[in-house]
Amino acid sequence: MNIVIVEDDPKIASFLSRGLRAEGYATTMIQDGEAASKVVPLMQDDVDLVLLDLGLPGKDGKSVLAHWRSEKFTKPVIILTARDEVTEKIKGLNAGATDYVTKPFSFDELLARIRAALRSFDNTSLTRLDAADVTFDLMTKVAFRGGVRIELAQREWALLELFMRSPHQVLSRIQILNHVWDYSFDPGSNIVDVYIGYLRKKINIKGHEPLIQTVRGAGYRFIPPSSKW
Ligand code: CA
Repeated sequence: MNIVIVEDDPKIASFLSRGLRAEGYATTMIQDGEAASKVVPLMQDDVDLVLLDLGLPGKDGKSVLAHWRSEKFTKPVIILTARDEVTEKIKGLNAGATDYVTKPFSFDELLARIRAALRSFDNTSLTRLDAADVTFDLMTKVAFRGGVRIELAQREWALLELFMRSPHQVLSRIQILNHVWDYSFDPGSNIVDVYIGYLRKKINIKGHEPLIQTVRGAGYRFIPPSSKW
């Protein structure tokens, strides 16, 4: 994961860079607006996210961002803005920012925003979910197990998608109900168990490991086959 930091204040830039490196990210620092404007779109494939200061020498952050978006730079951009630039940050969001963080900010808050931005970018660009011999195509809603095509009804694929997006996590019946059905559904109903039964029948193919585990008193858990033992 490479994060580009466009910030002219060397203290803030190195604070960010050190913090992010400690979290396992690679960082690239750019101090000048004009340079950032030209270079970042060329780095599209090597960049995962950009932190962008608004007050920059050469070219202001807002114009830099507008230029990037016009050059089809699609990666998430988080604007770093001073407290007195509230109207600026709204303009920033209009210019294509993913999020903004107000200076002075805590590093933990920034990190949480970065993770959220990366996660939502990932989710929107994903077209299929994979877990060892199981694949779920998010576009066609068809699953494959060991190369065998499995047709799923609407609630069944919604269940499988929920499980595959949260591997190893125990999901309670209420959580499942709220995701796959809706909040008004009677929590006392056994519909979750019934549909998990349907889904298991379809995806537990002979000769392959079962995927959905019942956790007594807690709910259900999806165990990707590769991590079975
Ligand atoms: Ca600045």
